Amino acid sequence: MNQHLRPDPVPFIDIAAQRRRLGKSIDEAVARVLGHCQFINGPEVTQLEAELAAFSGARHVVSCASGTDALLMVLMAKGVGRGDAVFCPSFTFCATGEAVALTGATPVFVDVDEATFNIDAASLKRGIATAKKLGLKPVAVIPVDLFGQSADHDAIGAIAAEAGLFVLDDAAQGFGASHKGHRLGSLGLATATSFFPAKPLGCFGDGGAIFTDDAELAEKLRSVRVHGQGSDKYDNVRLGLTGRLDTMQAAILIEKLKIFEDEIAARNKVADRYAQGLGNVVSVPRLASGCTSVWAQYTIRLPKGCDRDGFAAALKAQGIPTAIYYVKSMHQQTAYRDFPVADGGLPACERLSNDVISLPMHAYLDEPTQARVIKAVRGALST
Ligand SMILES: *Cc1c(COP(=O)(O)O)cnc(C)c1O
Repeated sequence: MNQHLRPDPVPFIDIAAQRRRLGKSIDEAVARVLGHCQFINGPEVTQLEAELAAFSGARHVVSCASGTDALLMVLMAKGVGRGDAVFCPSFTFCATGEAVALTGATPVFVDVDEATFNIDAASLKRGIATAKKLGLKPVAVIPVDLFGQSADHDAIGAIAAEAGLFVLDDAAQGFGASHKGHRLGSLGLATATSFFPAKPLGCFGDGGAIFTDDAELAEKLRSVRVHGQGSDKYDNVRLGLTGRLDTMQAAILIEKLKIFEDEIAARNKVADRYAQGLGNVVSVPRLASGCTSVWAQYTIRLPKGCDRDGFAAALKAQGIPTAIYYVKSMHQQTAYRDFPVADGGLPACERLSNDVISLPMHAYLDEPTQARVIKAVRGALST
């Protein structure tokens, strides 16, 4: 504290607290890798893939360099490209639609459900019709488990099956959550996740993984991961990437996975306390029936007419950081505004981009600190 007795700033995500809890285990894991020097495809990579498979219930796990690569690699392995339409929600991190556009396929943006922030089934149906009218071939849908909550995989899966689309779940924020008792990773054709440090299960750099029950797809993904390698290293049978996860990051993730269940429980406690403390002054996130969340973000909606910038400034003055995910939906971004949107437009995405704001959220947010956040939010709203 300085001489004006300003309260210490609250971290938005407290990676240092987790680091303290893990103590020497991370240092020892890194030292083991430094000892054996197998920095690429070391034994920890295979071990992590097996542990992630056991955790998620997926038959095959292919680790990779990032969440973006995880999405892109599945699309590449499935041969998605020019003339194909891939549906994704517009209210998401840009990587969801970016991976589609990178293959040459057309992302078709779909609206979301305002209560859950996740892809809206009715808008997806309209989007499929829109794509056909434009002469595109509908091939896939990428539901996103936004802010950590599972999307409605039953509804989306049924529409996909009827329209002949494969489902690629973007669980970059939702890994660890479940839908009707099934962990994400075991739904759809494939699931992509990210281990970016700020995600619920993060490493100390970039990383990602793909989950699937399809053995043939898993084999293709392992080939795409190393430049489309065939039966030997210098045989190239398809286009690929340098898409591997470093051994060092795998070793770190093995340690973090051990406490992940416990952290998910802690995040849910924090979310419950927010709902109790704020539920009568702002719109707090709600879980759909059968869906759980790992609370990658705790995103509230401010009341009508509330000045969001002023609200953020009032919290900042008390040492409380906020963030806006997402100020613009993808279809409002310069790089993506020429891609089609589902008929009927995306009014929910646009409303959310105007009134959401995210509060500090992590597994180590203790009660007194959280009480400060709640008090500051209530205070900022009453002025
Ligand atoms: C973070 C994120 C990604 C991309 O993950 P990276 O590891 O940063 O490439 C993709 N989709 C969503 C929804 C994300 O939040």
